Amino acid sequence: MFVSQGRGLACPAVNLSRPVAVSPFKPRRQTVTANVGGVLVGSAHPVVVQSMTNTDTADPASTAAQVAALAKAGSQIVRITVNNDEAAAAVPEMFQRLGDLGVTVPIVGDFHYNGHLLLKKYPRTAELLAKYRINPGNVGTKHRDDNFRTIVEVAVEHQKPVRIGVNWGSLDQNLLTEMMDANAERPEPLAAKEVYFEAMLESALRSAALAEEVGLRHDQILISAKISQVQDLVTVYRRLGARCDYPLHLGLTEAGLGTKGVVATTAALSILLSEGIGDTIRVSLTPRPGGDRTEEVVVAQQILQSLELRSFTPQVTSCPGCGRTTSTYFQKMAEDIQNYLREQMPIWRDAHPGVEEMKVAVMGCVVNGPGESKHANLGISLPGTFEEPKAPVYVDGQLKVTLKGDAIVAEFLDILNDYVARTYPAVART
Ligand code: SF4
Repeated sequence: MFVSQGRGLACPAVNLSRPVAVSPFKPRRQTVTANVGGVLVGSAHPVVVQSMTNTDTADPASTAAQVAALAKAGSQIVRITVNNDEAAAAVPEMFQRLGDLGVTVPIVGDFHYNGHLLLKKYPRTAELLAKYRINPGNVGTKHRDDNFRTIVEVAVEHQKPVRIGVNWGSLDQNLLTEMMDANAERPEPLAAKEVYFEAMLESALRSAALAEEVGLRHDQILISAKISQVQDLVTVYRRLGARCDYPLHLGLTEAGLGTKGVVATTAALSILLSEGIGDTIRVSLTPRPGGDRTEEVVVAQQILQSLELRSFTPQVTSCPGCGRTTSTYFQKMAEDIQNYLREQMPIWRDAHPGVEEMKVAVMGCVVNGPGESKHANLGISLPGTFEEPKAPVYVDGQLKVTLKGDAIVAEFLDILNDYVARTYPAVART
């Protein structure tokens, strides 16, 4: 069924029609469920948002503060690097600090090169971490399988899941050479890139088989195979998804800075998620100096909410503005309302369950403002240039009041707060 959202008047903001009743997406690819510190990851559960710190793990105060910020932003799992003795030794204090802050988000340890040594040497750290990430390309060359086995043995001992995280930039060179040599012997050799893709899959799946051989359960393994190019990532994950039923951790590695990173990640993840591929996602943005690390959580949530796979925060529909809106007043108002909604969510999430489904329209003029407002839970339509200085407010499709004067934003937020309290009442805790 198609429900027209057309309003009859030409406006650059309007999507004239879109399907709303039947999802155009494929169902989730069926997987087993992995338990990562109480967060369930797999096709029977909503796609999980995760993130990674960029603080020095050897500094437990700054790492705990960033983990807390990421968790507050909505990251359900947070990964930290554990790259040396100082970092591994600092993990228990970081947990202590998180406990003092009341933060219980599962923490994943990211290990490269020396994970087999650190996990054995720091058993308390091994016990506290909810999952270990192993890169099969970075566990040594000469004793590769032995080192890998050691990490998995620690995981078995502490009953922790592992992520086998293959990365295009650190692919197992022995395996790649072996597969390149075999390819050269073929009557019709594959293109080198094809061999690279297959080597990534082989590395992930062979490692998973070895982990099970050592003693991990099938449902204690997650897999990722990250690449920095969108089309390559889609190709590899489609193949990976077809060859196993492990939960898949999805992410475009080294996505980049700013708009490029956000758009490239969104493009890649949206294709795969629309095909039912992906059970947990991470957005790997390069932050600006002094930038906010929680941006990657906001982007991950927005991808899932834009695809209507999950709801995290009320959505603001705002028009792009045009020659009818010559002042920045309308842009500022849309931004203020969006920021207000996001800031309120940590409080509303528990106090007003369901509020994350709310839709708010902030429109620049009367051309499509009232029409779009009527389709939102709450909508406001500002006066465009040469229009009468008044802003009609709609609540559940009905004109409620027309605001005038200098306090339009504050008065609209009062109406919004009242609506939230009435429509999404607090649930009594038992
Ligand atoms: S200002 Fe009016 S006409 Fe222009 S994009 Fe917004 S709603 Fe459409």
